[in-house]
Amino acid sequence: MTSACLPPPASFGEGIIRRGCNAELDEVRLLAGDTRAWIADLERSERERTGLRALKVGYNRVFGYYLELSRAALAQPTDYYQRELTGATTVGEHLEKLEYVRKQTMTGAERYVTPKLQEYELRARNAQEEIVRLERAVYGELLDELAGVARALLDSATALARLDVLVGFTELAARSQYVRPEIVDDGVLEIVEGRHPVVERAIGHEAFVPNDTHLGGPGATVGILTGPNMAGKSTYLRQVALIVLLAQVGSFVPASSARLGVVDRVFARVGAQDDLANQRSTFLVEMLETANILRNATPRSLLVLDEIGRGTSTFDGIAVARAVVEQIHDNPRLRCKTLFATHYHELADLERELPGVTSLQVEVLERGDRVVFLHRVVPGAADRSYGVHVARLAGIPEPVTRRAAEILAELERTRTPRGSATHEPCDESDQPSRKTDAESVRPGQIEALRRLAAVEPLRMSPLDALTELIELVSLVTEAGSEGGA
Ligand code: ADP
Repeated sequence: MTSACLPPPASFGEGIIRRGCNAELDEVRLLAGDTRAWIADLERSERERTGLRALKVGYNRVFGYYLELSRAALAQPTDYYQRELTGATTVGEHLEKLEYVRKQTMTGAERYVTPKLQEYELRARNAQEEIVRLERAVYGELLDELAGVARALLDSATALARLDVLVGFTELAARSQYVRPEIVDDGVLEIVEGRHPVVERAIGHEAFVPNDTHLGGPGATVGILTGPNMAGKSTYLRQVALIVLLAQVGSFVPASSARLGVVDRVFARVGAQDDLANQRSTFLVEMLETANILRNATPRSLLVLDEIGRGTSTFDGIAVARAVVEQIHDNPRLRCKTLFATHYHELADLERELPGVTSLQVEVLERGDRVVFLHRVVPGAADRSYGVHVARLAGIPEPVTRRAAEILAELERTRTPRGSATHEPCDESDQPSRKTDAESVRPGQIEALRRLAAVEPLRMSPLDALTELIELVSLVTEAGSEGGA
């Protein structure tokens, strides 16, 4: 029955205890529940008793039940039988002789109660109160009974929940070709043909490109993953984290094989999120999360960092991202297995400088102006982001993407020898005089900056400050005109 599935009512008196549980409760309910039949019966018998076919029983919230007759009918003389019965001359008088008591006077009618009606009303009201009392009592008994077996019930619930999870794991493993991971303690994270459990489910087992992961042990602990937008970087990062998590909670994992150890935590810094209501920009949120990771991670943690340093200017971003990687690599308190996805292709150079860093890229094939995403993670570093291509895929109007492609070509030609669309190499030896946006800093300006840095405004008189300012301005403007000449 569908009613068996309905949730019980929220308050006592409304049917919390099912019919059939308690005989007394059922009986009282019967008494309260057949009101309509009782009223119809009363109406019929009162019409008979009074000889008034127009008599009606009604109900309102304030006065409860009443018997009503129109004023016109009340003023009528009694008929032979009525007179025989009560001796009254009018219908109104007749009713009063039959113990009708006025309850409410209306413009066109009079409302009455009789002792029988009042008695019934009282009983019905009492019955409702009795239902509340009985439901409460039966519920209390149920709780007492449950308290006696609570331990056993909770244990069964826990066992069932555990069984449910394990059966879920089993079914998933059998249906989705998962394997049993080998849990090792040699610091290795080795996944062969790993898959993302959710993306694989969404796009189908055949369509998903599996990827390997090798971190820790004798190999590098930090993998810097570059690759264009939409290549599959985030998917890869998350799949590794999910495989580690699944293995640790006792599940088989979506891979051909996996050797991995127990982690103390999985830290993930993914996605761009702001918290403007609390005055936190996207970048600040990103930095807060990164700070938390750097403070709390240990060599036993797994870190997946998707795009650190993206929410600020390019140099700033590279600087922060690089410093974070260096810290994770160098600090013996960290040295955790880390996957770091980034658009800063320069970071991949760290492979040459830091022995524990390896560069990975997600492969793409370029065919004319078409880009084919292979979703395959291989050693090496990508050098392009294909943002314009993705903008085109997303339906940005053609004039905009065409213009973006022109600007990109121009930037690539003028700004970076290595084809990175966004930034200069951060290797200082490649770049002896770092450039500002469009021009180099001139020597006079550097001198002005040096002098400015040495100024101690709080120790100067206003006049000295003004003199210094005038000199600084002239230094900068002279330097500017020399440069421009
Ligand atoms: P990125 O982080 O590099 O921008 P995502 O990880 O968000 O890219 O992946 C973009 C899309 O590519 C995913 O939504 C998914 O449909 C597809 N994809 C990612 N990895 C794979 C894979 N290994 N095999 C098949 N499709 C994939």
